[in-house]
Amino acid sequence: MTSSEYGPSDQRTYMIPGTEELGSAGPGAAGFSPMDNLEQVAQLVRSCTDCPLGRGRTNAVPGEGNPQAEVMFIGEGPGYQEDRQGRPFVGPAGNLLEGLLASIGSNRDDVFIANMVKCRPPDNRDPSPAEMAACTKYLDRQIELVNPKLIVTLGRFAFGRYFPGEGITKARGKLREKDGQKIFPVLHPAAVLRREELRPTMIEDFKAISEILEGGIEDSGMEPVVTTPEAPQPAQLSFVAAPGPAAIMVAQAETSTVNVEEAPRPEQLTLF
Ligand code: SF4
Ligand code: URA
Repeated sequence: MTSSEYGPSDQRTYMIPGTEELGSAGPGAAGFSPMDNLEQVAQLVRSCTDCPLGRGRTNAVPGEGNPQAEVMFIGEGPGYQEDRQGRPFVGPAGNLLEGLLASIGSNRDDVFIANMVKCRPPDNRDPSPAEMAACTKYLDRQIELVNPKLIVTLGRFAFGRYFPGEGITKARGKLREKDGQKIFPVLHPAAVLRREELRPTMIEDFKAISEILEGGIEDSGMEPVVTTPEAPQPAQLSFVAAPGPAAIMVAQAETSTVNVEEAPRPEQLTLF
């Protein structure tokens, strides 16, 4: 399966920015639908059938948040809860993401949250390169419209959008730049739910996000986080099961980006 397999139909529904001879012509005009604003992007996503994932969805999950967000989070794709509700990160991984946002004084209404693919892959399998390629037009346009100062990639698929072939384990927590856009890769929250020992790393990486936004961490390739953080205080972790002073181990993080569907069972939270 090649990435061009679902490509040709892109041009029918996507008016390339800067070439809008039809201005704001409505859907259907000469076969084009505009993506002049985020709601129009969302409408196109909801009716999209450009890849096979469209057939299996209950609801498409276009993404949501502050249209003027300084930070945009990019995940992998909808899971079970997201597919049911049509909203990104509303299951267990979403609870963790919300807690992490709260830990830096933010919340989901401050930021914009989107995914690499907008429809749920069956059984939460990885999205294929062809599916990601078919869907990227929507994310591309969302990024253009929101124009965030910082993009935070959650997990290896979103990271791979910018730095294909690199490993997230090594890259996470280091501010990068790609085509003038600041990119900050972090682990996927679902990976953290599956591997509790990753939690302190994730918390530190979120602290770094707020420092980047305050202008405290400049330029690429730096390791902005302390590698031996103090043990997290219970109060900071009230949104999650406190892991205790867990060792920071990220060696296997790359394999752990699968969505977590059910509410975490107690044993999952005490595994490590
Ligand atoms: Fe369209 Fe993206 Fe859904 Fe595929 S995943 S059907 S490209 S919106
Ligand atoms: N995992 C993702 O990558 N995205 C979601 O929206 C939910 C879980």
